[in-house]
Amino acid sequence: MSDSPNKMNLDESEWRKKLPNDVFAVCRMKGTERAFSGKYHDHHEKGIYTCAACGQDLFSSLDKYDSGCGWPSFTKPAQKGQVTYAEDDTLGYIRIEVLCSKCGSHLGHVFDDGPKPLGKRYCINSLALNFSPEKK
Ligand SMILES: [Zn+2]
Repeated sequence: MSDSPNKMNLDESEWRKKLPNDVFAVCRMKGTERAFSGKYHDHHEKGIYTCAACGQDLFSSLDKYDSGCGWPSFTKPAQKGQVTYAEDDTLGYIRIEVLCSKCGSHLGHVFDDGPKPLGKRYCINSLALNFSPEKK
């Protein structure tokens, strides 16, 4: 992972204090919530999804779609540079892990079976996200 000046670097014991256990398990231990268990997979309000650990903006409701996979799914991050990627082979094959670019928290994975034209499915844990509704 490359270092950028506005990066948030806490050690894991600090994260453990700062985050609720279930958020810590996903964001810092790279856990995965059970499909259809999260608060955002069936959530259709307009607004911005932010990082549950550091609050950085990550995804827009404009890019959210119903993939049926049981996790919030997006076609792209709200803006370039908000997420970083890593190869994850923990299941014995390569998946592309999606991480918050500011705090390095695990968010989920990105797959190539999304809708056209982008063809990407960002499959993100609800626990890794907070939602801030669009101001009316
Ligand atoms: Zn973050």
